[in-house]
Amino acid sequence: MKNIIWHDTGISREQREKLNNQKSVLLWFTGLSGSGKSTIATALQKKLIEEGKLTYILDGDNIRHGLNSDLGFSEEHRTENIRRIGEVSKLFVDAGLITITSFISPYKRDRDKVRSLVGKDFIEIFVKCNLKECEKRDPKGLYKKARSGEIKDFTGVSHPYEEPDNPEIVIETDKMNVKGSVKLIYNYLKEKKVI
Ligand code: ADP
Repeated sequence: MKNIIWHDTGISREQREKLNNQKSVLLWFTGLSGSGKSTIATALQKKLIEEGKLTYILDGDNIRHGLNSDLGFSEEHRTENIRRIGEVSKLFVDAGLITITSFISPYKRDRDKVRSLVGKDFIEIFVKCNLKECEKRDPKGLYKKARSGEIKDFTGVSHPYEEPDNPEIVIETDKMNVKGSVKLIYNYLKEKKVI
């Protein structure tokens, strides 16, 4: 960008990671509404924090209250939503945090862009749950509204969801409970020496 020069703030990510006694990564949860992204993210965060690991959740609904309150659910806005989250996540990873994002993020190309932005520390977690089960859970009553036409462009009902081809982790929440899901991710982080 013309006349804008990157300013090096003098402290490296490695120094912050050392301070936090952990590696920083981005755990990118993707899946249908009601698949369990926020539930698992919250339970995972609790476990990590209890063990002294600095963790932060960027949650789809919460971000739409603030930073992205100007965005709707058109294809263009969904892409912009994920682009901004990708940039914010990159800063959080640079800050040395185990960063967890919980967004439907329905488009493969948008998630792949975040992957190339963040690099090797992007860990895609596909929270897989069949539509019928998500609809049965309907924790926020959104499927009901989508079926009645009150909500337009609802993922899985009137808007597409593109499953990841090669996610680092797949959690099948129609087969596995929350505790098992958390353990699976936790073990992955141990194995990769993140924690
Ligand atoms: P999302 O963030 O993907 O929209 P939520 O976590 O908000 O989904 O909602 C998932 C709902 O499904 C919650 O009410 C949760 O208690 C319930 N649920 C039932 N079984 C599971 C499971 N195995 N894993 C995650 N959530 C589950």
